[in-house]
Amino acid sequence: MRKITIVGAGQAGLQLAVGLLDQGYDVTVVTNRTGEQIRDGRVMSSQCMFGTSLAHERNLGLNLWDEDCPPVEGISFTVPDGAGGKAVSWASRLDAAARSVDQRVKMPAWLAEFEKRGGKTELREADVDDLESYALESDLVIIAAGKGEIAGLFERDAERSTYAAPQRALALTYVTGMTPRDEYSAVSFNLMPGIGEYFTFPALTTTGPCDIMVFEGVPGGPLDCWAGVGSPEEHLERSLEIVRTHLPWEAERCRDLALTDANGILAGRFPPTVRKPVGQLPSGALVLGLADVVVLNDPITGQGSNNASKCAASYLASILEHGDRPYDRAFLQETFERYWDYAQYVATWTNAMLGAPPEHVLKLLGAANTSPRIARRFTNGFDDPRDYFHWFMDPAAAESYLATITA
Ligand SMILES: Cc1cc2nc3c(=O)[nH]c(=O)nc-3n(C[C@H](O)[C@H](O)[C@H](O)COP(=O)(O)OP(=O)(O)OC[C@H]3O[C@@H](n4cnc5c(N)ncnc54)[C@H](O)[C@@H]3O)c2cc1C
Repeated sequence: MRKITIVGAGQAGLQLAVGLLDQGYDVTVVTNRTGEQIRDGRVMSSQCMFGTSLAHERNLGLNLWDEDCPPVEGISFTVPDGAGGKAVSWASRLDAAARSVDQRVKMPAWLAEFEKRGGKTELREADVDDLESYALESDLVIIAAGKGEIAGLFERDAERSTYAAPQRALALTYVTGMTPRDEYSAVSFNLMPGIGEYFTFPALTTTGPCDIMVFEGVPGGPLDCWAGVGSPEEHLERSLEIVRTHLPWEAERCRDLALTDANGILAGRFPPTVRKPVGQLPSGALVLGLADVVVLNDPITGQGSNNASKCAASYLASILEHGDRPYDRAFLQETFERYWDYAQYVATWTNAMLGAPPEHVLKLLGAANTSPRIARRFTNGFDDPRDYFHWFMDPAAAESYLATITA
């Protein structure tokens, strides 16, 4: 039986671990926190996941919250006009509902499920010496440690990384009491050119259903305002100040908010980074990076957990197809390239969304005001952003698409 060690019990690490375990592999997951510590800790993400990623979970029997987690049925898109009104405002339904299960709920349950199915876990903050011993004991070592320090083992890929510095000041606020949207639930996405973005959607957290407020502030701008915010109450108050000041229609929905819990807040920033996927330990042994370790995107497009799920599914397929052959450098590199064939489009689109929106993008998003077809296509691109490269990313393609719509 082939032995695989996975460092990191997050979306990608646990999903891959369960997938391998079900196929008869001997799998150990190394986690730096127990399920209880994850559940009692701080929120880590807003983790809104779309149809394809949820299907990967379902294929492994990991969709444990379909009944309890409120669905996200669509996406609404608004650009303020700078005078208290809306310059662009539309909404469209997703073909398949999205869902956000707080990772504080999901990861402890998946850890328990992994152990129930016969997987082994080891509690430790893995360092390079640990990796050396895992490499001796295992046929393959995979690093799925997200933004953990150990990801530094993998060299930044300067050619594939667009930015060297953080592009947004990020904050999360998990709340109860938000007034639901009319008609259907959605990611309510507000784009404030030059200032940043605010989006909100329903989710399931440790205390039950909630809404998550996500703030993306252009560095140095008015939404880059979290330094010095001390208590959870101050964090909530700052969140409310932002929506009252910039987005009155969102403030209307926030008249009666409370934090879900004192750990339902987060503020930080990081540079979007692509890394070389094969890490070499001092002994010469090779390890493979997974998901955020190798392709870390800004959350502006809500793709990280989706990518993690798709990366885990892609690596699982590569490993199964490889059979008993050795896990040499060529295999490790090729396993990543197969995922990168998809992920490069997500990274390029996400990095483009971090820049000032070009003319053709504003035109398309404005045209969606009166064209449900455009709105529907933009909305459903979140499930598979490769579609944007046919009509959204390129000015000429956008023009010809608009021409077919108006014809
Ligand atoms: C503010 C914010 C909002 C987001 N919103 C969304 C969204 O709406 N939709 C979406 O799809 N994505 C979103 N994301 C991104 C998403 O959360 C991540 O991309 C996803 O969780 C990555 O999964 P992963 O398995 O690679 O890493 P992680 O989920 O980060 O898991 C890594 C695990 O490894 C552990 N670890 C780290 N170092 C070690 C070590 N040395 N030894 C052992 N264990 C270790 C960590 O504790 C963690 O449990 C958001 C991220 C942020 C920051």
